[in-house]
Amino acid sequence: MIPMVDLGRQYRLLKEEIDNAILDVLNSSQFILGPNCRELEKEIAAYLGVSHAIGVANGTDALLLALEACGIGPGDEVITTPFTFIATAEVIALAGAAPVFADILPDTFNIDPREVEKKITRKTRAVIPVHLFGMPADMDPIMDLCRRKGVRVIEDCAQSFGAEYRGRKTGSFGDCGCFSFFPSKNLACCGDGGMVVTEDPGIAERIRLLRNHGSRAKYMHGIIGHNSRLDEIQAAVLRVKLKRIDAFNEGRRKAAGLYRRYITGKDVRLPGEREESRHVYHQFTVRSALRDRIAARLNKNGVSTAIYYPVPLHRQEVFSGMKQSAEDLPCADACAREVLSLPMFPELSEEEIRLISSIVNSAF
Ligand SMILES: *Cc1c(COP(=O)(O)O)cnc(C)c1O
Repeated sequence: MIPMVDLGRQYRLLKEEIDNAILDVLNSSQFILGPNCRELEKEIAAYLGVSHAIGVANGTDALLLALEACGIGPGDEVITTPFTFIATAEVIALAGAAPVFADILPDTFNIDPREVEKKITRKTRAVIPVHLFGMPADMDPIMDLCRRKGVRVIEDCAQSFGAEYRGRKTGSFGDCGCFSFFPSKNLACCGDGGMVVTEDPGIAERIRLLRNHGSRAKYMHGIIGHNSRLDEIQAAVLRVKLKRIDAFNEGRRKAAGLYRRYITGKDVRLPGEREESRHVYHQFTVRSALRDRIAARLNKNGVSTAIYYPVPLHRQEVFSGMKQSAEDLPCADACAREVLSLPMFPELSEEEIRLISSIVNSAF
């Protein structure tokens, strides 16, 4: 059986160091907003090349607090992709604003900057590009457009820790970069965790307030906030793994290279890459009109697969009240019908990739 992700393989490699990091926290009795969170914030800011990093409870909160810190709320529109995890659009509604969907590109699955431009109105206050599956969105045209229009950019980096666009890390382009450390992500803890990064000291200060009940000093509350802190156990585990993130991502890129070599079926489209980008393959996602047949064959032979995402967000019941028509989102609809994600994690062996690829090839 080859799973989509095998968290146990990574844990066994790092067991002693992770166990000790957790035991140190238990012995310190400091569980919330302690030294591990503070040091991790500094280490991640340095790694990404940004000025401020603020640990929060999860990736969804990272996005929500970023929207709130940018002052986005009722009456505002926020443009994002319909081909992403629900959280990306959910937070827009939670902030009181209206999500507006712009179509994606057929090979990278990322938001198409030209479609974003078409969707901008006088009410547009922010764009949330998602670096889906570890592939950076096309940030230059997105940043140019948004700066010209006075619109904020909040990057959803939940799947792209360590990915680069023109030599800079994702999360360092927009007004805010939002990360998730959910166990299956490229940089992952052993529970929920998230982080917001920014160059703007005002936004950083507001996020620090928002994550801790709007509290500047103990029992003094200036604004309505949240309980959204990254706890010390998660931060300690993340510090162990952050030291290896480049090697983990290199392992994913190597696995992707092997899939590219061994998958030869003509009716399978491999994920797009770009000269200017360093893809970190949170997922290895192919496209095929015969997707269901390939998946059935893999599953029958003990290989797990997944469909990210089977129902695009503009077709979700929760957004059925939106005025937006599906007619201008054809690419997201086509991708939802054709995508298939194959097993992907840094420790995947060449032998396993060869086996998976040969089953894919035999489906034709
Ligand atoms: C995982 C994910 C999130 C949410 O992160 P959580 O930590 O699970 O809240 C948001 N956006 C995308 C694209 C994700 O993959």
